[in-house]
Amino acid sequence: PPADTRAGAAVKAADRAHVFHSWSAQGLIDPLAVAGAEGSYFWDYDGKRYLDFTSGLVFTNIGYQHPRVVAAIQEQAGKLTTFAPAFAIEARSEAARLIAERTPGDLDKIFFTNGGAEAIENAVRMARLHTGRPKVLSAYRSYHGGTATAINVTGDPRRWPSDSGTSGVVHFWAPFLYRTPFYATTEAEEAERALRHLEDTIAFEGPGTVAAIVLETIPGTAGIMVPPPGYLAGVREICDRYGIVFVLDEVMSGFGRTGKWFAAEHFDVVPDLLTFAKGVNSGYVPLGGVAISAGIAATFETRPYPGGLTYSGHPLACAAAVATIGVMADEGVVEQAARIGEDVIGPGLRELAERHPSVGEVRGLGAFWALDLVRDPATREPLVPYNATGEANAPMAAFAAACKARGLWPFVNMNRTHVVPPCNISQAEAKEGLAVLDEALSVADGFLA
Ligand code: PLP
Repeated sequence: PPADTRAGAAVKAADRAHVFHSWSAQGLIDPLAVAGAEGSYFWDYDGKRYLDFTSGLVFTNIGYQHPRVVAAIQEQAGKLTTFAPAFAIEARSEAARLIAERTPGDLDKIFFTNGGAEAIENAVRMARLHTGRPKVLSAYRSYHGGTATAINVTGDPRRWPSDSGTSGVVHFWAPFLYRTPFYATTEAEEAERALRHLEDTIAFEGPGTVAAIVLETIPGTAGIMVPPPGYLAGVREICDRYGIVFVLDEVMSGFGRTGKWFAAEHFDVVPDLLTFAKGVNSGYVPLGGVAISAGIAATFETRPYPGGLTYSGHPLACAAAVATIGVMADEGVVEQAARIGEDVIGPGLRELAERHPSVGEVRGLGAFWALDLVRDPATREPLVPYNATGEANAPMAAFAAACKARGLWPFVNMNRTHVVPPCNISQAEAKEGLAVLDEALSVADGFLA
């Protein structure tokens, strides 16, 4: 890409003057000015190119600027750019049909939103109205979005400043053997004890007060913890026994990320509500939604659903979803994600773990992986303390800087780096990124106790 440093400086100056950024102390950030992107790469105005191991925020499942999706958006703009949600519109009908055909079980009705947080807001509202109960149970290690209910359902520390204390959300521990809350030594033990803990939580909260259990099928931002065999099936059984609505949040894990259309397929479970966003159209136009089971849809068959959005099922977003799903089906993107995980990323990361003592655990599948970095492999003490900032976070900052200097954009959260490239990343590109990780992990190794 050609350099245009002056244009980059103008973009940066206007950003610094007027753009208020998410999750940030505005005076302490230094956003990179990006000039363009294609496939698995983006570049800045100095002509420096980065391999994107983050897929944006884990949403460009088919990479940047796929020509078929760009053309579909342009075509829809020429035909019918926008229309109100109460009408039947071709792009919306078609997107709903394609999504419903891919969601598991009887999740056949689609409520469209603008993103993941609104999907969670509406899933919780549906569950409360369907059951007539107030409470929601969710996992401590989770992220479900930044709006009022979604941030309270979230487990990570971004909840703290916005926790109303009256949200009706109760958090519990989901399984995570590497840092087990249950003193378990095997996956079977972890699953069994996590289920007992959940059932105890329900018993002490009062089963008749719990509307929903909300879980990420495979928690994403919180660390890509693949649940042990039997856990999600056990949660399904508990929900059935107590009449609780089971919500699986597939905003990050859906649409190919794990090597299946939806991660729930790995565990043979069907939730009552499934939330999606991100990969549904690779984030080209904001879109999310809730896939609704027949039972919950029936609740709102003759009783109005008390929720809606001006841009529910926006034609541009839906046309992008139709094209994205078409690309994924025609190009075998879901299968590509499965293969890149099995053939390149998984083996590559395990090999790195053997040589780098800062890697405590490698976990994941498909195009969805985490390295848990530690100060001491024996004690598993995290490389930086939980929720560390400033000097305490220096080892992770040094690791990230080492990646960026070498042309790799890493996903970094607390003591972890996630390897979450586009699902259709090539083998050569994935290997290029792993080679950079190898060098950056040597920097992390330097911080070991
Ligand atoms: N749920 C999960 C599992 C997510 O990973 C995210 C975003 O990262 C959200 C919900 C919120 O989605 P959005 O940022 O589109 O509101």
